[in-house]
Amino acid sequence: MSLCVQPQVSLKAYNSFAINVTARWFAEAHDDDQVREALVYAEQRQLPLLLLGGGSNMLLTADVEALVLRMASRGVRVLQDDGERALIEAEAGEPWHPFVQWTLQQGLVGLENLSLIPGTVGAAPMQNIGAYGVELQDRFAGLTALDRRSGELREFSLDDCAFAYRDSLFKREAGRWVILRVRFALSRTAALHLDYGPLRQHLAERGIAAPTAVDVGRSICAIRREKLPDPALLGNAGSFFKNPLVSVELAQRLSAEHADLVAYPQADGRVKLAAGWLIERAGWKGFREGDAGVHRLQALVLVNYGQATGPQLLALAQRIQADIFQRFAVALEIEPNVL
Ligand SMILES: Cc1cc2nc3c(=O)[nH]c(=O)nc-3n(C[C@H](O)[C@H](O)[C@H](O)COP(=O)(O)OP(=O)(O)OC[C@H]3O[C@@H](n4cnc5c(N)ncnc54)[C@H](O)[C@@H]3O)c2cc1C
Repeated sequence: MSLCVQPQVSLKAYNSFAINVTARWFAEAHDDDQVREALVYAEQRQLPLLLLGGGSNMLLTADVEALVLRMASRGVRVLQDDGERALIEAEAGEPWHPFVQWTLQQGLVGLENLSLIPGTVGAAPMQNIGAYGVELQDRFAGLTALDRRSGELREFSLDDCAFAYRDSLFKREAGRWVILRVRFALSRTAALHLDYGPLRQHLAERGIAAPTAVDVGRSICAIRREKLPDPALLGNAGSFFKNPLVSVELAQRLSAEHADLVAYPQADGRVKLAAGWLIERAGWKGFREGDAGVHRLQALVLVNYGQATGPQLLALAQRIQADIFQRFAVALEIEPNVL
């Protein structure tokens, strides 16, 4: 099937902030051939090409003068399964959460802590998605990507991807790689990751002493539904700022001033602070200006109450960054891709 390119398409339904900007050109790629076709289409017309998954990690600040290509390829394959360990491959356009649920239905352990993260499989390696003590890199077994510079396919191993906290080679080389499919190493006997306090508490409240991966997945979904606004009801992109990594000296100084500072020492000697704590302490939680605001229950999440524009949300984010820097000498980094 050949690519169907449409002019002037509103992206409101294609980004979780529900920002109403227009794509000059828009198409969906259902397979590798259509991705290649889109690259040729853009090159021949000298158009930039913007890849889109679920649009749940983007802040669109203006109409997009580009060909917006939504990754819509579907398919999940079991490449190996010896009864205990399995190698699973999913196409880039597979919606992430249903994919996680499918793995759990197969009795496979590993992705349960990443339940209910919006978006697609293909975008998950971009920022090495993570939640509740697990990151994509912990279950990653490889991916296939198309190099837009050379037009060639390349296989990536774990080491090739240079994964870090909400970061990867693909994020650093933005615009170069089209991730086509991702592979995961899962197991039927792996230990569950239950370190996160509220997860243990939720399981205990459900009377579950020896949880399965399915139990963990259900609890994670319940906790996330309580804590995070549903983008279908209130536009948002999840955490708007990364948790900042600071020096031990700064962390010690801040904790001397604020006894309840939330801080996690890291293996590299730095200390990770909870961005949400800093923002809440600075009084931004629940702040609203026009339709741009900070969620009333979760200070890390910026929300669009209806008609907020990208520049309005960005301006609010920048005010918060400046205020946090002034109060705590901590530079907050924006997590979503600002376009
Ligand atoms: C309510 C909510 C909760 C969230 N919770 C979490 C969380 O717990 N942990 C977490 O890590 N993130 C979280 N996020 C952020 C987001 O869900 C993830 O970053 C997700 O992986 C984004 O997927 P997407 O398909 O929507 O990507 P998009 O927003 O469409 O794209 C993100 C970036 O990836 C690029 N891209 C997309 N597809 C491809 C591809 N196939 N190849 C190459 N580049 C591509 C895009 O160009 C863009 O630069 C949350 C978001 C929301 C709205």
